[in-house]
Amino acid sequence: MLIENYELEIFTPPCDPGAERYASRARLNVDIAELLPYLNATLRGAVYLPEAKALTWKKGGHNIAFHAYEIATSNVEDREGAEKEVKGLIDLLNRTWERRAEIVPDHSTRRRPAPMAIYKLLPNTNCRQCGEPTCYSFALKLAVSQRKLADCPPLTEIQYAEKRAALDDLIIEAPAIG
Ligand code: SF4
Repeated sequence: MLIENYELEIFTPPCDPGAERYASRARLNVDIAELLPYLNATLRGAVYLPEAKALTWKKGGHNIAFHAYEIATSNVEDREGAEKEVKGLIDLLNRTWERRAEIVPDHSTRRRPAPMAIYKLLPNTNCRQCGEPTCYSFALKLAVSQRKLADCPPLTEIQYAEKRAALDDLIIEAPAIG
């Protein structure tokens, strides 16, 4: 087992004291930098930053950042949820460490798609069902993970099935920017 002990701190973010969303920080007793390329190879949408020895990932709407000696989570509903989330992440890290001989580590950094590349795959009807004035506004927000593909209802229509499949491959479900 790689991680046996950690100290957990759960708090409301300083920029939003009293908020009903929680963040947590688990301080680890070991350096997990060596594990990050293995997570990069197995976690869909992870963004690995080798120079910073960091990897970010989005899971169920929660933003997660792995650092050498730390795991940080944000946007969790309550303290109990934050504890459960961190425990699940520690289990994931330990399982990945145990399986590392079967995984080809990935040292690359995935790039977020360009808004224009996303725009070309949207229905381009400017129907506003997503709440944005145009498909291009939606593409801009999708590129920085401020919106999700599911926020565009027309993409479920059969006529857009090919575009939807291409978008599924293109979009990175990484933590939002901004
Ligand atoms: S719901 Fe989809 S098709 Fe309609 S404006 Fe938004 S992105 Fe464009």
